[in-house]
Amino acid sequence: MEIKPIEVERFHEKYIVDEESGCWLWQAAKRSTGYGAMKVGGLKESAHRISYTVFKGPIPEGLWVLHKCDNPQCVNPNHLFAGTPLANSQDMHAKGRQRYVGQKGKDNPRSVLTENQVKEVIKLIAKGMTNRAIANRFGVSHGAISLIRLGKCWPDIPRPPDNENFKPYRSLRSQAARQAASSFSKEV
Ligand SMILES: [Zn+2]
Repeated sequence: MEIKPIEVERFHEKYIVDEESGCWLWQAAKRSTGYGAMKVGGLKESAHRISYTVFKGPIPEGLWVLHKCDNPQCVNPNHLFAGTPLANSQDMHAKGRQRYVGQKGKDNPRSVLTENQVKEVIKLIAKGMTNRAIANRFGVSHGAISLIRLGKCWPDIPRPPDNENFKPYRSLRSQAARQAASSFSKEV
């Protein structure tokens, strides 16, 4: 994959940094797999593979680019590693997340949390608990809690108004991200 400097610039405009998890959350186009996507040299490529290539170098032949953080939306190169598909499936089994694989992946809390649990999660977020602490309590990934916090999952369950803890992005990389954040807070 050849990536031009202008494309690297475009890449940096398409994610926002979640300070708590350190994940770079892709905001632009997504593939059906939940991975971000961007055109490079006219071809659609997965955003996490672009990230790996830009920051770590060419993806070793036969290896996949996998997430240490379990968040398919994440393009932080420090959360990515190259491994075999087998390593990925062993990792998934070890983490017990094989049942969540699919369109929205294991980060879709709808697949694991009941509505009442989500209400509970929202209360804990409102009290200022971290994604990780809540995730541990409910046995889901921190990414799943992050999606609830961001209103990307279960948006139909009301959040307390004017609660700072639902302000999603404490660190914004670009104008685009700032706009995304402001349109988000209007929705909620
Ligand atoms: Zn990450």
